[in-house]
Amino acid sequence: METVSATFLSILVFAIAGIVFFVFLLFAAASYSENEARAMRRSLFLALVAPVVVLSLNLLPPAIQVPLTYGFLISIVLGGSSLLVPFHSQKTFSEPLPSGKIDERDIMFSRRLLQPGTERYEQYYAQKPQFKIIDDQFRKNPGLLGEGSTFYKPLSFSAAEASFDTISGLHHLVEKEPVSETRLAYTAEEYTAFLKGWIKKLGAHSVGIAELKPYHIYSHVGRGPDFGKKVELSHRFAIALTVEMDKHSLDSAPYAPVVMESAQQYVNAGVIAIQATEFIRKLGYEARAHIDGNYRVVCPLVARDAGLGTIGRMGLLMTPRLGPRVRIAVVTTNLPLIPDPPFEDFTVHTFCLRCKKCADVCPSRAISFDPPTEINGVKRWQISQEKCFTYWTVCGTDCGRCVSVCPYSHPDNFLHNLVRKGLRQSSQFQVLALKMDDFFYGRKPLPKGQSENYVR
Ligand code: SF4
Ligand code: SF4
Repeated sequence: METVSATFLSILVFAIAGIVFFVFLLFAAASYSENEARAMRRSLFLALVAPVVVLSLNLLPPAIQVPLTYGFLISIVLGGSSLLVPFHSQKTFSEPLPSGKIDERDIMFSRRLLQPGTERYEQYYAQKPQFKIIDDQFRKNPGLLGEGSTFYKPLSFSAAEASFDTISGLHHLVEKEPVSETRLAYTAEEYTAFLKGWIKKLGAHSVGIAELKPYHIYSHVGRGPDFGKKVELSHRFAIALTVEMDKHSLDSAPYAPVVMESAQQYVNAGVIAIQATEFIRKLGYEARAHIDGNYRVVCPLVARDAGLGTIGRMGLLMTPRLGPRVRIAVVTTNLPLIPDPPFEDFTVHTFCLRCKKCADVCPSRAISFDPPTEINGVKRWQISQEKCFTYWTVCGTDCGRCVSVCPYSHPDNFLHNLVRKGLRQSSQFQVLALKMDDFFYGRKPLPKGQSENYVR
């Protein structure tokens, strides 16, 4: 009987060693394919060392071998069950539903365009004197894509500028006549299914529909010839779409490739939105595209209400499969559509409460380490847009360090989606996953690749 149980224990030890070896080897292979050198080195090391440690249990006297072997087994089972069994010890908090509208003139992208000495500049700061000192400070810096900025690279910056110019060239297409006088006899369900499928085919990673609410709409225009005008937008629905930002380019953040990638994805999202509006007009309904530099709606709020994600610690849309590694565009319309249910997985909030990785790496300290605070009756995080943007005007790029290090930003593949599933399932797994992320990728991962060369 003793021999049987000793044989069983020995087989168990071999089985555990085999599982450990294959799990770490699989992770090493995935890390290699994702260009994650640190994670690959560490998992290869563990693939070699951990099974040897487990196998050495067979050399121990039974009095030590038995409890240690079962201890290993129980750890594996508990680790696995924390991935599978739903359990959340922490309460989530309510999503922000702003009570008022945001004035586009107050956001940094609008304030940066105010030219000292102009009437617009004088009028704006007469009304908002609290912003004048800090804004005049960032005007002394080289500026976004400015020569003399810390990460200035002539080729990459020119390429990014070319993309931003391209998208400016699309602005005249966002809202135009005529709308076709013929309307086809399709149902809202049919329009919705067709549009969603087509927008994805055009390159969007996700697409959702929300009913347009007053708090989605800016109160006043902050950029372009309509500066200062009240925003009038009577459309009933908003189609939000996301496009993926390339992980490899983002991993170089805050160096030059990141701003090239941001600019490129603004173009890609914008082109899809313009195509969708052209299509809707041909169906006989009004439509307006909301693209970089020409928004009338607050895209992250629309995307959240269209079921595409939630808002995390860094104040950006956190999508289920790419985290914050997306760019958004919106189409508003009166075409009959079926809205999506709102996003209801708030486990991102509980993970953000623990994680704080974005706050740790933020060079401008714009992201809070604190729990969310109550603003207008709702709990939410708010970054300091002034600190963030001022850093951009020093470094010359749009930084992106926060997006790059976020554990939700890992590639959209089986392995990382398994981790994302675990994060949704349980608090225990969230603790484990954060420790693993720090161990394999680093608490403050260094930027990868500073060269001007965009192509890997
Ligand atoms: S880095 Fe961490 S804290 Fe920041 S948004 Fe991502 S998950 Fe939340
Ligand atoms: S973009 Fe950079 S500066 Fe701005 S919040 Fe993110 S990490 Fe901070």
